[in-house]
Amino acid sequence: MKGLDELTFDNRFARLGDAFSTQVLPEPIDDPRLVVVSEAAMALLDLEPTEAHSPVFAELFGGHKLWSEADPRAMVYSGHQFGSYNPRLGDGRGLLLGEVRNDAGQHWDLHLKGAGQTPYSRMGDGRAVLRSSIREFLASEALHALGIPSSRALCVIGSNTPVWRETKESAAMLLRLAPSHIRFGHFEYFYYTRQPEQQRQLAEHVLDLHYPECKAADEPYLAMFRSIVERNAELIGKWQAYGFCHGVMNTDNMSILGITFDFGPFAFLDDFDAGFICNHSDDQGRYSYSNQVPIAHWNLSALAQALTPFISVEALQEALGLFLPLYEAHYLDLMRRRLGLTTAEEGDKVLIQRLLSLMQPGAVDYSLFFRKLGDQPVEQALGVVRSDFVDLAGFDNWSQDYLARVQREPGNADGRRERMHAVNPLYVLRNYLAQRAIEAAQSGDYSEVRRLHAVLARPFEEQPGMEAYAERPPEWGKHLEISCSS
Ligand code: AMP
Ligand code: MG
Repeated sequence: MKGLDELTFDNRFARLGDAFSTQVLPEPIDDPRLVVVSEAAMALLDLEPTEAHSPVFAELFGGHKLWSEADPRAMVYSGHQFGSYNPRLGDGRGLLLGEVRNDAGQHWDLHLKGAGQTPYSRMGDGRAVLRSSIREFLASEALHALGIPSSRALCVIGSNTPVWRETKESAAMLLRLAPSHIRFGHFEYFYYTRQPEQQRQLAEHVLDLHYPECKAADEPYLAMFRSIVERNAELIGKWQAYGFCHGVMNTDNMSILGITFDFGPFAFLDDFDAGFICNHSDDQGRYSYSNQVPIAHWNLSALAQALTPFISVEALQEALGLFLPLYEAHYLDLMRRRLGLTTAEEGDKVLIQRLLSLMQPGAVDYSLFFRKLGDQPVEQALGVVRSDFVDLAGFDNWSQDYLARVQREPGNADGRRERMHAVNPLYVLRNYLAQRAIEAAQSGDYSEVRRLHAVLARPFEEQPGMEAYAERPPEWGKHLEISCSS
């Protein structure tokens, strides 16, 4: 375990040069203080947990101090936002401080979000508010605990620096960790600005550092693109199975590693709703829950377009064709496990679709449904969940088929409860839970954020005393309007 001054930096992205990023120093926030820290994320850097409570910690991640080996940079990228190409985005309020190599030889980007203005800030103030920083922190760590690939969050630092959004709020900084912050939009930027040399340099960089196994292939770039398709198919399969809605799936928010990235007005489904739109500013529902699948596919085709200088259109199309079947395989695999099934049958897809159609008109809590289904022997469990459905005859029909399906499983009752509880979370980051923690933090009480983070770090385990966190949302909590403003 290390102290803060013992980190080893190896700034590989910065070394790509000034065509890729601009050196910018963080602009400190006033009276920096620790709001919440993830010890699990600290461990990724081999950091001693007690280091979080030293004053230097808040100074470093509040932009007051900097390691001499850091090389803070704002990255340039572009991307498709709500379907339209925006030729110049970039880190408008975040800086890649540097890359830390841990003792296991893994590299982690240290990205400070809310670090002040950069050449890419456009009209923005370069800041992040406490509210959105807490939301990103909680979501990154909660997704990771659910087994969904995500960028990680080390800490949130609060301050007295005022920031104007719809009202006056306070600025915060979030320290984000990821093996890379390269987005689809990085490739689009060099493609659309016609910088073939830099584009090749970027592709080599990603291949070398993040897809080394593809280097031996006949066409390394094509193998890399295929892997990106595969990873995204797995990611979206998990989002859909767990009811996670990202909210702003622009291509600049899509990671080249296939991890959940750049959190905005995300949400986990409370009551199941296939058309759920978590982003209050998304009038058309482009990024609704069920649209996430075709949108991920569309985003991959935008990346494919940017790779046409290296790969033939036919090969790119063939690789894109892998997305939907792979997505479906991951989704069905996880949904089967959520239903307690250990084998695969042809009819499972229809069984799952029928269940979701029955959930749609009722008030069925998507997460708790699966948890309750595993809580008791199957017949009793079906009796418990039944009352939330509107079409009771339809549900009874489904129940019979599900029961028959369960009975066809080898050793069908053995370990069913443990098996199902291991994939069906009791605690999920519901918007209203985040909202309560944010309101307390805004008045200076960070205990609720910390408690919620701790609960969500073990989502599958019953935690005595934490029953309230496993309840359905109150009525007000189902209708929170979360906008893009952050
Ligand atoms: P996002 O919707 O958060 O992914 O951001 C889209 C683009 O706007 C990115 O280039 C961000 O860096 C930039 N941006 C968002 N908020 C701000 C802000 N407050 N100040 C400067 N740039 C911002
Ligand atoms: Mg973004």
